[in-house]
Formats: sequence, C-alpha cells, structure tokens
Amino acid sequence: MIDAHTHIGRVKSWSRRLRGTVETGLRDLLEYVEGEKLEKVVLLPVARSYPDIGEDIVKTDSVLEAYSLHPDKIIPFCAFNPEDGGLREKIREAVRSGCRGFGEHKVEIRINAEQNINLFRICGEYGLPVLIHIDSRFNPDFEGFKDVVSRVEETFFIVHGPGWWAQISSEQTGEVYPNGRISEPGEAVRILKEYRNVYADISAFSGLNAISRDREFGRRFLSEMSGKLIYGTDFPCINPEGSQFGPDRSHISLLESYNLEEEVLNKITRENILKILKHD
Ligand SMILES: [Zn+2]
Repeated sequence: MIDAHTHIGRVKSWSRRLRGTVETGLRDLLEYVEGEKLEKVVLLPVARSYPDIGEDIVKTDSVLEAYSLHPDKIIPFCAFNPEDGGLREKIREAVRSGCRGFGEHKVEIRINAEQNINLFRICGEYGLPVLIHIDSRFNPDFEGFKDVVSRVEETFFIVHGPGWWAQISSEQTGEVYPNGRISEPGEAVRILKEYRNVYADISAFSGLNAISRDREFGRRFLSEMSGKLIYGTDFPCINPEGSQFGPDRSHISLLESYNLEEEVLNKITRENILKILKHD
C-alpha cells in the first residue's frame, strides 16, 4: 500500500480530547511506514505556514532532503505559492531534483483565479499531478473548481478537503462535515465520472466522513469509483477522537470493513496513484 497523503512538521490538534500540537519529523514518518508495512508514502510540503491555525508543515526543500535520504520510501512532491513568482523555474528545478507531483496546494487564493490556472497548466506541462485541498479558506471554493476542471484538461488533479467531500451528496447543509444518508450523489461524484483527469483522496476526516456517513452508499461509491479514488491519511493530523491518522488505521480499517473486491482495494491503495505520478 502507498499512503498518498502525508506530511512532516507541526500540526495543531482540533480534537476535544487532545489539546496541543504534534510535531513530527522524518524519523516519525519512517516509523509509521515501517509499522504499517507501507511500500511508500507521498510526502507533501505546503508552500506557507499558517501560525493562526497552528500549522507549520515542512517546505519543498525539506521534502527533497528526506527523499535524498530515503528514495525507496518517499515519493516527493513540491509546493509553491503562485504569489511568490518564479513559478516555472521553481517547478523545473524541483522536477530535476526528483519531484513527481505538486501539492499539497493550500493557498488563500480563489481556486479558479488566473494565478492558479497558470500554475495548474505549468504542472501539466511538466507531467505533475496537482493535489489540492479545498475548504472555505484555502483555494475556495467548489464552484471555482468546476471552472478549473472545464478549463484545464491536461493536468491530473487529486482533490480532497471538506469543500470537496461535502459535495459527495446533492443535499447541501452548509456544515463542514455533513452527516447522514446520501439519497442522491452530488457534484463531486459527477466530476469524478465525467473528467478523466480528476481523482480524489480519502485522507483526513473529510474523506473518512464522506465514505462512512452512509455505509450503503459508501460501499457502492468505492466500488464504482475505484478507478478514481486514492488512499491517503493526512499523517500526522489528529482525528476528532484524539488519535493520529495513519497509525490509528482509521482509513484502511474503514476500507477493509466494506469487504471490497481485491481489485478495487488494490486500485485505491496503490495502482491509481502510481498511474498518475510523473514518471521519468
Ligand atoms: Zn494534508
């Protein structure tokens, strides 16, 4: 299995049961890889730190350093803020150093702003899939993402976050993590079906909630969309119960609880991510 969504650095716990900040380094990530017998992890930098939400995830340089030490375990991505300029040169340099994708893209710019569209096109030119987080603050918002997918066809997207996963249902409650039965599939499902270049990762609480809130729907969704879904945890983030995504196995346990066909499970936990990563 490959965990396609991991970080190292500092994250705040939003759990009511665990207050404080978690600080993880490369050694912690490797212990997780070894403990869970993972083949590899995708290690994602974030271009900026956000002290107001207690988030300080390492940047591209540190990801590349980790990769140079453990090239057999780490698949490196790069992340730059389009507002900082020099994007093309930075991406070219990162690709030369081994980066296989772009993200986690988490900036405070509208997702369909020209700066972002330009970034996504450059990533397409270099064959880099772009992993995007969507919520009300970072890369807002889902309506804009619909514009992005209609305009950028040459780039693979891996999308996740509350702003994306709330759209698994056609019913919109306005909650960040909506619950309850899904009577009609939402726009996220339509996009996965319609656009060959759009994939989604099930990491963090948003992904976990979306595929577990209605188990009957969840099982069917995983099977039908198995060619477009990617396993990830968002290690070292903390779940609402106070345990840590990744080591607590909540995503993988949920997948296992559905007794999916082996082919479906293989696609989600390994094959899909390998298919869209930049190859040499
Ligand atoms: Zn993340």
